[in-house]
Amino acid sequence: MSAPFKLAPLPWDEDALAPIISANTINFHYHKHHQTYVDTLNKLVEGTKFADMKLEEIVQATAGSADAKEKTLFNNAGQVWNHDFYWRSLTPAKTEAGGKLDSAITAAFGSKDVLIQQLAEAGKTQFGSGWAWLVSKDGKLAIEKTPNAETPMAKGVNCLLTVDVWEHAYYLDYQNARPKYLEAVLGKILNWDFAAANLEKESQPVRAAAE
Ligand code: MN
Repeated sequence: MSAPFKLAPLPWDEDALAPIISANTINFHYHKHHQTYVDTLNKLVEGTKFADMKLEEIVQATAGSADAKEKTLFNNAGQVWNHDFYWRSLTPAKTEAGGKLDSAITAAFGSKDVLIQQLAEAGKTQFGSGWAWLVSKDGKLAIEKTPNAETPMAKGVNCLLTVDVWEHAYYLDYQNARPKYLEAVLGKILNWDFAAANLEKESQPVRAAAE
């Protein structure tokens, strides 16, 4: 098996986010859940046209497909991308939303507190498994939520931050209390430097969905 996709390294030590997210949670989440998505993705692309594509291209090419195999491929490719993005959305370092990001937050939400409130609300109200996102869309910051493996990136939307609200992200530390997990993560370990760097990027090109 050629296994073109690799499990990207974590950007910090596995115990670095404790006690907000324990090393135990990171250990299962990264080495079991994330690794399984990578392994399954590699099996699914083997010998197909997708084997030579970039991860983002696979997600965008298979999003919304009615084909059962492509749906499975989307789910695994999306989850690999989403998890890699999630790890980088978190940091034990103290970061602040400054400069252009700060102006964009003020313009869209009035304040960072309101942004965090709305992101928490999106995470709380995502029914079942999914993700809450801070995105930049049509020149303005916005909050989105997606179910399962779905991601705003699939539609070419520029993602700035994400929070995983699948139960596996918080159950070992917070059991059923998703709001407590969200409150701790959003208040203490969001990586605003990552968000600022993403804001500088152009949005991901949508790959020929309409062709
Ligand atoms: Mn997860």
